[in-house]
Amino acid sequence: MQASKFIVCEHCDVVYQRADLARKQTALCVRCGAELYRGPTMQLQTMLALVVTSLVVFVIANVYPLVAMDMHGVENHSTLLGAIGAAWNTGVGSIAVLAALTVFLFPLTQILLLGYLLGSLLILHRKPFGFIDIMHALRLMRPWSMVEVFLIGALVAVVKIAGMAEVHAEPGLYALGVLTFLLTVVNAFDLRLLWDARERLPE
Ligand SMILES: [Zn+2]
Repeated sequence: MQASKFIVCEHCDVVYQRADLARKQTALCVRCGAELYRGPTMQLQTMLALVVTSLVVFVIANVYPLVAMDMHGVENHSTLLGAIGAAWNTGVGSIAVLAALTVFLFPLTQILLLGYLLGSLLILHRKPFGFIDIMHALRLMRPWSMVEVFLIGALVAVVKIAGMAEVHAEPGLYALGVLTFLLTVVNAFDLRLLWDARERLPE
């Protein structure tokens, strides 16, 4: 969400020069009254809502099994961490570690750190402790949070296994799909808004 200098009304095509909005202000089109863009606090509140939703969906994706397999009458439910553990046990340790980092550890750390920063800034109105280090960590982690790669891999595996055993998707897999979408949106947020929000708070 890079802020550009100009903004075009989506409804009537009038072009405006973007001005800095204060907290909770909304810029409206003079001609048609449509919303053009919002002040930083509103965007941050949307971000906080998405981060909290991501955490809930992350928990669901990890608690519920991803797939269920029925092999000769024996039902086998596999969770995300169960699949990573199985990969580790079958000797593909490097894949297990990679999956654990990119699908579990990085996304969870990202969600928790963003939640901590946004919660401090928006709810407690306090400058978060360790802000600069956390912002650097978030920037470094961004490209390594790759739930979508795992999701595609899981879907391919399901299709392949489908020939050998009865297999069906379980709630965890749907949650993982939703999480992929949510994290894409969260990762598109302009982190500079957090710097701005911190600047506006008194010492
Ligand atoms: Zn307009």
